[in-house]
Amino acid sequence: MLLKETGLTTQQVIDLTEKYMIETYARFPFVAERAEGIYIYDTEGNAWLDFYAGIAVNSCGNCNPVVTKAIQEQAGQIVHTFNYPYSIPQAVLAKFICETIGMDKIFYQNSGTEANEAMIKLARKYGVDNFGPNRYEIITAVKGFHGRTYGAMSATGQPGSCIHKGFEPLLPGFKYVEYNNLKAWEDAITPNTIAFMLEPVQGEGGVIPAKPEFLQGLRDLADKNNMLLCFDEVQTGWGRTGAIMAYMGYGVKPDIVSMAKAMGNGVAIGAICATAKAASAFGAGAHGSTFGGSILNCAASYAAVTTIVGEKLYENAAVMGDYLSDLFAKMPHVKDVRHRGLLVGVEFDAPKGADIKHGCVDQKMLVTAIGTSIIRVIPPLVITKADCDECAKRMTLAVKEAYGE
Ligand code: PLP
Repeated sequence: MLLKETGLTTQQVIDLTEKYMIETYARFPFVAERAEGIYIYDTEGNAWLDFYAGIAVNSCGNCNPVVTKAIQEQAGQIVHTFNYPYSIPQAVLAKFICETIGMDKIFYQNSGTEANEAMIKLARKYGVDNFGPNRYEIITAVKGFHGRTYGAMSATGQPGSCIHKGFEPLLPGFKYVEYNNLKAWEDAITPNTIAFMLEPVQGEGGVIPAKPEFLQGLRDLADKNNMLLCFDEVQTGWGRTGAIMAYMGYGVKPDIVSMAKAMGNGVAIGAICATAKAASAFGAGAHGSTFGGSILNCAASYAAVTTIVGEKLYENAAVMGDYLSDLFAKMPHVKDVRHRGLLVGVEFDAPKGADIKHGCVDQKMLVTAIGTSIIRVIPPLVITKADCDECAKRMTLAVKEAYGE
């Protein structure tokens, strides 16, 4: 929908939003109208350098022509039927994903948090079915983030944060343990524990990559204790970290993995994939979703994931992630740069995160801030070195502005 087709002004769009929407978001100060590649164009004709990709979603680039064509063609054929008839996009996408990431089965959802609900439900049902009614506890990570629905929110190890506050009592059965501390995870296991659930790289928690020996240690502990290893790859999946799935880069295979974001390049789709053993806990009637696996979204997702794999965008993410992180490390006031592929966190030496984010907005560049002093940079995976240079140039100006230099 273009502004001129509505007869509205830019300010009227903002006013309507504020009047009629329940607002929980800190908005960027523009109305997005169209997008292409690594740029978003607003209603006033400005181009915004997109280094947040709709929060790690538009990995193939905004309005990637292959994905757009798939959406357009599918929309003219059949959009939605619910999961009673078999569907061609569902089937070809299932085969491609399972074979590409070495999993046996997939269940489609609509978002990251829903994928995590499915992962939690599958793990708990597996525990209860195989080991008895008390075997449902899941150990998750302090500072982890898994979503905003009740199960995923309860799995999120951020007590006292705005994610939990006011929503207690949460779903019981979760225990939060320090990330990257294998001994603590081992000590937290009880006879009722069925699973470990964590992000291979903590995103919202400050861009903290797992140590390889931590993930391998969890795999070994899960095997030894008849438990499941569950990875939340909603943010890290589909190329972001320099491997197709982050676990493939680490060489540690989970029993269940959740995914969303880049899987649809902007179309709302999520999923879990599981080994046949874990997947066997779901039978007829155990779980369901009206829109999960919608034909339109599966067609778009097939275009997105085959583009990420076919064009080796994960390899570009690895190269550009190193290049961009080196540029960031040379900027003033940087305390630490952590990254895996193009999931990059820049930590500053003072609580200037919000100021730097706003300074980037002044430079017509979009990034996100985490906590008080971290800027997270999660661009489309199609960026070039020249794009990285431009990003570092604009960010440096934003840093100087934030520090009053
Ligand atoms: N899990 C992780 C690791 C995420 O980063 C996010 C969103 O940022 C979610 C789950 C929730 O996904 P969604 O917003 O699609 O529900």
